[in-house]
Amino acid sequence: MKSNKMNNKKQGTKAVWGGQNELFYQGATQVPIVNSVTFGYDQVDDWFDVAIGKKEGHIYSRNTNPTVAVFEEKVRILENAEAATSFSTGMAAISSTLSTFLSQGDRVVSIKDTYGGTSVIFLEFLPKNGIEASLCETTNHEEIEAEVKKGCKMLYLETPTNPTLKVLDLKRLIKVAHESGTLVVVDNTFATPINQNPLELGADIVLHSATKYLGGHSDAMGGVVCGNKDLVQQIFHYREINGASLQANTAYMLIRGIQTLELRVARQNENALKLAQYLENHEKVEQVFYPGLASHPGHKIASGQMKGFGGVLSFSLKGGFDQVKVFLNHLELAHLAASLGSVSTLIGPPKVTSHVEATEEERKQLGIPESLIRCAVGIENIEDIIADFDQALLKI
Ligand code: PLP
Repeated sequence: MKSNKMNNKKQGTKAVWGGQNELFYQGATQVPIVNSVTFGYDQVDDWFDVAIGKKEGHIYSRNTNPTVAVFEEKVRILENAEAATSFSTGMAAISSTLSTFLSQGDRVVSIKDTYGGTSVIFLEFLPKNGIEASLCETTNHEEIEAEVKKGCKMLYLETPTNPTLKVLDLKRLIKVAHESGTLVVVDNTFATPINQNPLELGADIVLHSATKYLGGHSDAMGGVVCGNKDLVQQIFHYREINGASLQANTAYMLIRGIQTLELRVARQNENALKLAQYLENHEKVEQVFYPGLASHPGHKIASGQMKGFGGVLSFSLKGGFDQVKVFLNHLELAHLAASLGSVSTLIGPPKVTSHVEATEEERKQLGIPESLIRCAVGIENIEDIIADFDQALLKI
């Protein structure tokens, strides 16, 4: 089905059919992997027309590639965007977006709880280039608004956040940013386009680590940025020269993964809620952080802007890190590993993963208890996961 007929379709249909047909070859029903670095032409005039953008086509795979273009089109359709461009990793998408729009003397406002790699860019790389990053207390909307009003080029947001699933009111913050012409970028990796659509809430740019839920199987890395044609063209231009391009083989794996995105995310939403409810009632658990729980401070905002609460939750155990080790070492149905968004459950303590370089005091300031465990629930039958948690909690 042609892309322009996808607009009125539901997300599950878009995930399967979006962008697919452009490249069917000799009756094939699946997208081919075009492992060609360069693209040849019979006529110099045709080559020239493609080179100057007069005709559609491909020249060199660092710039564009047919299989990669299908991946971009699929995500574009799911995010209901005008345009999309892709990257070799999520961090390439983030760093390219920041580098495209920020230059010496500019200021970006963001939050303390962005993904660790993003935080390093804010605190280490941007200042080296004379760019100021003001990082606010994550859920302090008044502070974020006040910082934006002081004047900045970009407001960079992420919601829900890692690892305590803090929630930001996107509509409210986007409105304030736009009053002063500030560009709003949202990392939608945790939520996925199934659960949250920041462009529909007014954001200018939405980006993803495709390594997570889009790919969905922890076997392929990628990144993607969506927005209007002008903004995406500028980011594309940066990336085609900077060179952090997605490979055709990987694009194919991501395309295949996205086809089941809606099914997986629906199951992960359901599994995470059941696991959070189970943990909330367990005597050895101190606190559960999941925006789907009524007890979560961001529950009301999340209910208003998300269609599902996602597959990531975290919880702290009574006691300390020794208890965490005993629990984790006895789990049988989860990889003790970083990352999220896979079909299999991934679990780990932020003290060992995302916040390993922070001091105990810094973790405390971010509201991260020493006994915190983050769990990215997979698509397994949740009864088995809960039974596994049950036996491991008994060992403490
Ligand atoms: N954004 C978020 C929210 C993430 O969790 C991650 C990785 O964990 C990234 C971006 C970076 O993605 P990648 O590892 O694909 O570079």
